[in-house]
Amino acid sequence: MSSNTCLALDLGGTKLLIGEVEESGRILKQKRYDTGYLTQAEEIERIQECLDDYIRTVGFAGERPDRMGMGLIGQIDHSRGIWVMIDDRRRAPTPVTGLFQEKYGMRCQIDNDVKSAALAQKRFGGAKDTDHFIYLNIGTGIGAGFFENGRLIRGWQNDSGEIGHLTVDFHSDTVCFCGRRGCVEAISSGSGISSRFFAKIGEYPESALRSYAEGKTIPAHAVFEAAKQGDPLAGLLTQDAADGAAALILDLVRVSNPEKIILGGGVISNPDFYRMVCDRLDFFCMKSVTKGVELSQLDPQYTGLLGAAAVGFED
Ligand SMILES: [Zn+2]
Repeated sequence: MSSNTCLALDLGGTKLLIGEVEESGRILKQKRYDTGYLTQAEEIERIQECLDDYIRTVGFAGERPDRMGMGLIGQIDHSRGIWVMIDDRRRAPTPVTGLFQEKYGMRCQIDNDVKSAALAQKRFGGAKDTDHFIYLNIGTGIGAGFFENGRLIRGWQNDSGEIGHLTVDFHSDTVCFCGRRGCVEAISSGSGISSRFFAKIGEYPESALRSYAEGKTIPAHAVFEAAKQGDPLAGLLTQDAADGAAALILDLVRVSNPEKIILGGGVISNPDFYRMVCDRLDFFCMKSVTKGVELSQLDPQYTGLLGAAAVGFED
């Protein structure tokens, strides 16, 4: 039995997207499910529940796929098929692939969400034409996947690419949850911009964004928009975020000498912010990036699903 489609499962913080994807990257069928703040054991149970529902209510386009790929959150031991942890508070190493292979009779592979997205760029996206690239995600958090000679670099614990904790400002007043000062994630990510807003709004009582102070978070897009209108606090947060993101990109170029850089994620996809970051990349070290910097061309809604499929299609 063989099939040219893959059953893809994209688990995010609050949702699970299941779909069937062709080798070309065409999504044939898909269905979205809600999840929540769950432990790994609860997630596994929920995934099976949803998958059973999917098979029952959506079914397959043609033959039953013989492979399954999953993009999961947290740390994944890809080669042994073990979901090591979601975060420090939710750590219970769980053998996932064996369980699903046995229950559903499909070859199953897993990887983490950022590495899956990098694999999706290589197989379906803007990195088809290069074997040496960096996929950099700047969204709620910051992470990267490095490709060298067509292979994704994983590290001995599969933990490479956690570049959100590279320091971009030694004198920063912002301390990251990892304990260090001036991590790029604490300055340039969506969660970092939001945290800095709450730390600073007291000093800017006239800020156009003051109504957000009553809530728990502020979207990066609102900050960027207010910066465009000349709001001083928004301007400061936006400038710092762009400086941090640009410094990160230039440092990563020095580390891995990529031919191309693909940027993805909700924060960097904002056109004004993207332009600000690119304007800061005008250094001679970028000359080596001969295929340039570009935004991901994959539909952000389905990048995770395509990533999961790319994991499933890996040999
Ligand atoms: Zn950090």
